[in-house]
Amino acid sequence: MNYNKKTVKDIDVKGKKVLLRCDFNVPQDKSTGAITDDKRIRAALPTIQYLLDQGAAVIACSHLGKPVATFDSYVKKQAEKGKDPASITEEEWKKSLKKLSLAPVAVRLSELLGKEVIMAADVVGEDAKAKAAALQPGQIMLLENTRFEKGETKNNPELAKAMASMAEVYVSDAFGAVHRAHASTAGVADYLPAVSGFLIQKELEIIGGALANPKRPLVAILGGSKVSSKIGVINNLLEIADTIIIGGGMAYTFSAAQGGKVGDSLLEADWQDYANDMVKKAAEKGVKLLLPVDTVVANAFAADAESKVVKNGEIPDGWQGLDIGPETIKLYCDAVKDAGTVIWNGPMGVFEFPAFAKGTEAVAEALSQTSAITIIGGGDSAAAVQQLGYADKMTHISTGGGASLEFMEGKELPGVACLLDA
Ligand code: ADP
Ligand code: MG
Repeated sequence: MNYNKKTVKDIDVKGKKVLLRCDFNVPQDKSTGAITDDKRIRAALPTIQYLLDQGAAVIACSHLGKPVATFDSYVKKQAEKGKDPASITEEEWKKSLKKLSLAPVAVRLSELLGKEVIMAADVVGEDAKAKAAALQPGQIMLLENTRFEKGETKNNPELAKAMASMAEVYVSDAFGAVHRAHASTAGVADYLPAVSGFLIQKELEIIGGALANPKRPLVAILGGSKVSSKIGVINNLLEIADTIIIGGGMAYTFSAAQGGKVGDSLLEADWQDYANDMVKKAAEKGVKLLLPVDTVVANAFAADAESKVVKNGEIPDGWQGLDIGPETIKLYCDAVKDAGTVIWNGPMGVFEFPAFAKGTEAVAEALSQTSAITIIGGGDSAAAVQQLGYADKMTHISTGGGASLEFMEGKELPGVACLLDA
């Protein structure tokens, strides 16, 4: 995939209507619906501000959550959950949609920008069209949740065309959604000149750069819970990395595959052959593959569980590995010292429990002290680095969870592929 794409700086947007795809898929409080973290809204500000300063009229759009776009499919979904279809009312469905309205995002965005954000009542309906037509340079409006339209996730061309017809230029800045070929993330680019905003530009520059032409040695640190969810990433990074470090829950599948005892640790028995193949492949390619030498085990999956350090492959029955051990920490921290680039995906342990966050924290600290380009991908990994207080010490923390994983897998991202080549 070509990562070299045109950006907002490469086109003239003055006096133009710009359809801007943002990632406003913010976390909300379940009962009140209040936005619990506005990071994603703030992340969109540089591109929005730039467009407004250039004299563009900005028509922002985004999805939020997983609304069920039609009453019929709502009834079907509820019935699958065991509800009596006859008892399901249209009001209930509408209420479920209202919970996923972008109106609170418009309010927050308006506070952050210090200017009015005009909220449309629909995506491509009368209200959106009228408001878009009346929008003046320097003004911004927000369309309703794009997933209120059933054509959105199906990348329906009619919907894409209707969205595009309100604007003259398409700017995508929703990195978190570029791995999806939806109407608002990819389809619209068939009808408008399409370029990236600053968020996507940075992701392409840094992650794309590290994958295509890394400053070596390139060290990949891979952890998290399951091998099975990381196959693509491991496969792709085996082709480009100089060193691969394995930690987190998936390390126990590697250990078991080599005949180790893993007790009650996370184990994907079906993936043991794959793990052995990886070890073999790494050796053939001359990629250094590091596996844990010791591990912190607990007598339960709990924050206050009893714990001790044991050698890798010697986990007693009734115990489970929840973090890498002190010897492993030393080994891994040494391995990143002289790296040119470090790509990290997947925590080294159950960092959500402070007692088992030491491995993840030690690696974060080691990264903060290297002169290497440090890249964090994956939703939980980004959260871990933030939670542990190392966020501003990294070169780049990807804003897309699933998107950054697919990026690291070397997959083509439809929301990037659709943008104009630079
Ligand atoms: P990312 O979202 O960054 O791609 P993953 O979703 O793959 O990362 O993995 C994150 C999760 O892995 C965390 O919730 C963490 O608690 C879990 N995890 C890490 N190590 C272990 C372990 N030893 N046992 C069980 N779960 C683990
Ligand atoms: Mg995750």
